[in-house]
Amino acid sequence: MKVIVIGAGPAGCAAAMQLWRFGFDVELIERNCIGGLLQNANVIENYLGFPDGISGDMFCKLIKEQIYKLGISVIYDEVKQIEIIDNEFILSLTKNTKKCDICIVATGTKPIQLSEVIIEEEARKYVFYEISNIKHQINNCKVAVLGSGDAAFDYAISLSKRNTVSIIMRGDNPKAIRTLVDTCNQINNISLEKNIQLIKIIRINDKLLLNCIKDSELVNFDVDYLIVAIGREKNLPKISEEALKSDRLFLIGDVATEKNIRQASIAVGQGMEAAMNVYLKNWNKL
Ligand SMILES: Cc1cc2nc3c(=O)[nH]c(=O)nc-3n(C[C@H](O)[C@H](O)[C@H](O)COP(=O)(O)OP(=O)(O)OC[C@H]3O[C@@H](n4cnc5c(N)ncnc54)[C@H](O)[C@@H]3O)c2cc1C
Repeated sequence: MKVIVIGAGPAGCAAAMQLWRFGFDVELIERNCIGGLLQNANVIENYLGFPDGISGDMFCKLIKEQIYKLGISVIYDEVKQIEIIDNEFILSLTKNTKKCDICIVATGTKPIQLSEVIIEEEARKYVFYEISNIKHQINNCKVAVLGSGDAAFDYAISLSKRNTVSIIMRGDNPKAIRTLVDTCNQINNISLEKNIQLIKIIRINDKLLLNCIKDSELVNFDVDYLIVAIGREKNLPKISEEALKSDRLFLIGDVATEKNIRQASIAVGQGMEAAMNVYLKNWNKL
């Protein structure tokens, strides 16, 4: 039985590892980096086995090492579509197709984007939705982080190591967990701007100008970069109805989890569970 796992975040890697241990012919398809969303995390403090916490970068590095050490085959490409034809899954990648008997989808989430109309064209390349590609490159800059949840506060902590950060919140109360809020409050170069409504983002004099409203008054923030962390939504490739109905297709991890309980250990648990179910069902070659 050939199994393809789509997405090499914690969920997909856990499933691939366990399937490999059962002796399945397993392939992992990843469009970006092994480790997934945790590449954006500052420190992971709630994963068992790391009493001092572990940085997102190191955690992803270790996952990658484990996948490579086992010799699991990884294809770096994006799955655009999943169909089922003659009892086989057909996966359309960017340039070719792949076939498998069992398909595990662990494609995580994507950021909710700001409406394009509020971002002037020239400003767009200074607006980011994740920080993994830029966190080591931005130095001595003024950065605004839009949002009030865990990700916004986590991004602020990461970026404050080398920059000045303002967290811009629409409401009065942070939605992030207390430990993240407390940490931000203790960092001098992080400020919290409350009750701010962002109206327009323009590029002027080599800066981003954030036109906002606070208490019915117009206020502006000038920054070098804006990081938008206003939530995430499920991220799925196109899946045909027939494929979705198949009991040989599994959705695991954040793509299958409600927003308030998206956590790495839950994703890993779901990856293990899917692999165990594949093994226990003992499907014969179809
Ligand atoms: C800033 C931040 C900090 C966090 N901190 C913590 C923490 O401290 N503790 C904790 O438990 N959780 C934390 N999380 C949450 C955690 O990152 C997620 O719950 C976890 O990564 C979900 O794992 P996943 O495998 O389901 O999805 P993801 O990690 O999102 O992985 C999905 C993978 O699929 C790939 N992919 C997507 N679509 C395709 C496609 N079509 N083809 C091929 N590949 C594709 C993506 O590139 C990605 O690598 C944090 C999240 C953020 C944003």
